[in-house]
Amino acid sequence: MAPSWTVGTEFAKRSNRDILTSKRFILRKRRNQVIASNSTSQKGRCLCGRVTFSVSAAPLGVGNCHCRSCQRATGAPFFTEAVFPYEALTIQGDLMQHTSIADSGANAHRAFCPHCGALMIAYGDNPEIVAVSVSAFDDPSPYAPQLDIWLSEAQPWVRLDPNTVKHEKSPKA
Ligand SMILES: [Zn+2]
Ligand SMILES: [Zn+2]
Repeated sequence: MAPSWTVGTEFAKRSNRDILTSKRFILRKRRNQVIASNSTSQKGRCLCGRVTFSVSAAPLGVGNCHCRSCQRATGAPFFTEAVFPYEALTIQGDLMQHTSIADSGANAHRAFCPHCGALMIAYGDNPEIVAVSVSAFDDPSPYAPQLDIWLSEAQPWVRLDPNTVKHEKSPKA
């Protein structure tokens, strides 16, 4: 399915940024409570450093997405993402959002630094969870992937970890 670009005008960009800003406000209100209840806070940043983030919880899961959209969005053969409850994530700095229709038919939102282009987070329409780029963490080493998804679109020269759980499409498909 051809992607449907829903962010192409200044108005759309501004409204998406407002959405991210309002989420950030909610997150800031909750931050003390979240961080106080968990000592596993991890930090990260984009390539240029204008966008920083921290997570205050362990990930719900870590996976490699091999879909063609993630390949194009990252410039890499797959996107390694750690999924967190949204309330565990605090972002500082402006992000720009791009939305496309995933091969599953659902909306796929990706937010990146507008200055350096680094992809930071990805999420669907479920506001409860967000996927953070593992490569953006200051220390990505704890986030070993347990899943490989969308292997139906994986490049044949990618060598897969034999220990991960593998899905031809998304885990729900
Ligand atoms: Zn940046
Ligand atoms: Zn993907």
